[in-house]
Amino acid sequence: MDKYDVIIVGGGIAGLTAAVALQQEGLNIRLIEKTDRLGGRMKTDVVEGYQLDRGFQVLLTAYPETQQLLDYNALELRNFYPGAQIFYKGRFHKFADPFRKPIDSIRSFTNPVSNFGDKLKIVGLRNRTRRLEVEDIFSEAEQTTIDYLKEWSFSSKIINSFFKPFMGGIFLEPYLLTSSRMFEFVFKMFSTGYAALPKDGMEAIPKQLAKKLKPESIILNKEVVRVSEGGVSLSSGEELMSSVVLVATDANTLNKLLPSYNADTSFNSVRCLYFTADEPPTKDAFLYLNGENDAWINNVVIPSNIHKSYAPKGKSLISVSVVKPSKLSDTELYIAVREELCEWFGKEVVSKWIHLKTYNIQHALPAMPKVKYPSKKEIEAVSKGIFVCGDHAHDASINGAMRSGRINAEAISWHLALAVNQ
Ligand SMILES: Cc1cc2nc3c(=O)[nH]c(=O)nc-3n(C[C@H](O)[C@H](O)[C@H](O)COP(=O)(O)OP(=O)(O)OC[C@H]3O[C@@H](n4cnc5c(N)ncnc54)[C@H](O)[C@@H]3O)c2cc1C
Repeated sequence: MDKYDVIIVGGGIAGLTAAVALQQEGLNIRLIEKTDRLGGRMKTDVVEGYQLDRGFQVLLTAYPETQQLLDYNALELRNFYPGAQIFYKGRFHKFADPFRKPIDSIRSFTNPVSNFGDKLKIVGLRNRTRRLEVEDIFSEAEQTTIDYLKEWSFSSKIINSFFKPFMGGIFLEPYLLTSSRMFEFVFKMFSTGYAALPKDGMEAIPKQLAKKLKPESIILNKEVVRVSEGGVSLSSGEELMSSVVLVATDANTLNKLLPSYNADTSFNSVRCLYFTADEPPTKDAFLYLNGENDAWINNVVIPSNIHKSYAPKGKSLISVSVVKPSKLSDTELYIAVREELCEWFGKEVVSKWIHLKTYNIQHALPAMPKVKYPSKKEIEAVSKGIFVCGDHAHDASINGAMRSGRINAEAISWHLALAVNQ
């Protein structure tokens, strides 16, 4: 039987990043993925010519890992407008980044969702997070984001109408119970870069990484059911041998494969409804936020305004995210969301939209009341010959998943080099 240097279990962005790094070290690897395609939670389904990301997500172009490891030009990234349109008291109010959209920012000076003090604090927060290194942010004292914003004395208006929907749409929880470290990190990323979409949808990101792997190193449609020192067992009954196993699955699967690891399995969820229209409600690249907390919609975007490729010619795609937990059925949610959309964009406009699909993503993001940011030196085998990576072992983001994959790959290469020399 062949013996590989490393078997990687799970072909999400963490496993893929690790696989690429290990292959670059000249190691003989196998990446085993239980589904029929790579990418994990970063998938784009093509439905009737529309590109549907499985839940609205964006690449923050300032992410340090993606800057290093991805070819942005090949992804043909296009950016969202730096700011947002906030629906509050019956109409939209523009909230612009004062540094990149100074004129818009001056024009929106009198918007009712913030006061002058809030604007000064935003500038202060921006300066602070730009000054801090990412490592410094992740070693700051931790509290919830909501407590952090209150400590900064932001007004309840801006907290409720801007921070809750804006950050809630990123953390996928509307109460801002996520760690303040994550808040500062995301704020820094928005202050130093843009939110962007690849031309071919978010799955283009894992696809770009997968292209770097030798085709024979990828095994699809095989589920790993047992991990042990020296290899893995598949549900098909096959056994594969390796010097090291890297488990790069979600936290629930990890706990089944390695019960002693005991990963935290609390998740934030999101429901994403896609609509199609002949005409977009606006032609802008805005993020539309709900500034009124008692509504279902958290945010709306029109991906086909960013990239025409998100919809067939002459059509538009509208994506609506709901992060507030609910027991509403899909039909009940659809009715509630449609009613709110009519308030936002007008009944006549929305009546022409066709509902295409709803994604209910229960296990979208690991909850992040506390965030880890291990240094390279802290990475070690969790038991003999077995390593673990993934967003649950880091911060829950594309950057966190990729960094976790990369630093584990570096630790494994070192571990194997030492073993050879012993
Ligand atoms: C709706 C949504 C919105 C998001 N928005 C953003 C955003 O805007 N910006 C951002 O930075 N991040 C965002 N994220 C987070 C980001 O997508 C994830 O952090 C990242 O994709 C996690 O990658 P991963 O490799 O750690 O895990 P996963 O993607 O979960 O990969 C794990 C892989 O392991 C496979 N697997 C599981 N069990 C087995 C087994 N037994 N055998 C073999 N294979 C197995 C799975 O099929 C999967 O492919 C979002 C996520 C979601 C779902």
